[in-house]
Amino acid sequence: MVIIVESGADRQTVDNLIDKVRSLGFTPHPIFGVEKTVIAVVGHKTQEKIEALETMPGVQQIIPILKPYKLVGREVRAEPTVISIAEGVEIGAERVIVMAGPCALESYEQFSHIAHYVHAAGAQVLRGGIFKPRTSPHDFQGLREEGIPIAKAVKEEVGVPFVTEVVDIRDIETLHEVADIYQVGARNMQNFSLLTELGKVDRPVMLKRAMSGTIEDLLQAAEYVMVEGNADVILCERGIRTFETTTRNTLDISAVVALKRFSHLPVVVDPSHASGHDWMVPALCKAAVAAGADGLLVETHWRPQEAMVDGHQSLTPSTFEQLMNELPAVCEAVGRTL
Ligand code: PEP
Ligand code: MN
Repeated sequence: MVIIVESGADRQTVDNLIDKVRSLGFTPHPIFGVEKTVIAVVGHKTQEKIEALETMPGVQQIIPILKPYKLVGREVRAEPTVISIAEGVEIGAERVIVMAGPCALESYEQFSHIAHYVHAAGAQVLRGGIFKPRTSPHDFQGLREEGIPIAKAVKEEVGVPFVTEVVDIRDIETLHEVADIYQVGARNMQNFSLLTELGKVDRPVMLKRAMSGTIEDLLQAAEYVMVEGNADVILCERGIRTFETTTRNTLDISAVVALKRFSHLPVVVDPSHASGHDWMVPALCKAAVAAGADGLLVETHWRPQEAMVDGHQSLTPSTFEQLMNELPAVCEAVGRTL
């Protein structure tokens, strides 16, 4: 349920309400919006407890939330959530954020080269897998621990925030010194113990939709992170499994529209994993921005034909630059900037 606080209630009144919620055995999640303050209340409800809250000073209304997700929904927060990734870089506001880089870090030289390039072309966030979740155990699993000093050095050289996947709870700590955003991959969207641990960290989490996850599954997965106290969750549509074989997955562009309607959280689209084809990525990036995406995740490699992972879907430095030159017009058409 959600407690709508009377407009004009002072901080002490809100604090008293929060204490009361806690004393009744609930977990309060206060949300201080521009227009209204609400307290999302999580826990087992009884009529008696609801009545005890209804009579408290400052309570305008108590609304039950019938959806299976609560904190991620628009009911508790009407305005979009803007997440600060690093100084001067925020997602969910007017500016569309482009996250670019290779699927996996392969060497200092490879990562440094592409990082400088995508940054110069306008990417605001650098991506790159250090721990890779691969379908076959025989495939390259990422540089793993060896990748950390490389990521750290390149990040510092270029001066941009970095998003990287955390595959296992044990790696949350290992990645803490380099990850500005923890990515949860499609294969781990419903790894609830990983989500719960990420709910306790002080960094944004980008949660990718599972290939067979519904929109509601994704929102409930995000709820696992938020309910632990980490409100900085970014949702990512990366294509779902369908009968179509032309593409690696099928980009569900309607998910962007639905997620923006049902949730206040920022939405990123990953056309690289959705399509599996470099030649499709620029058009799908534009479609994603037109549909309301707050960010894009674009795999980019200095020599895609030599990439250890996902070269076929990676843009070259020049096709990435061309995309970055074409995107502003689409952004402008939908009231955004790049
Ligand atoms: C990735 O971003 O490199 C990745 C593995 O993506 P996904 O989890 O969406 O397959
Ligand atoms: Mn990849």
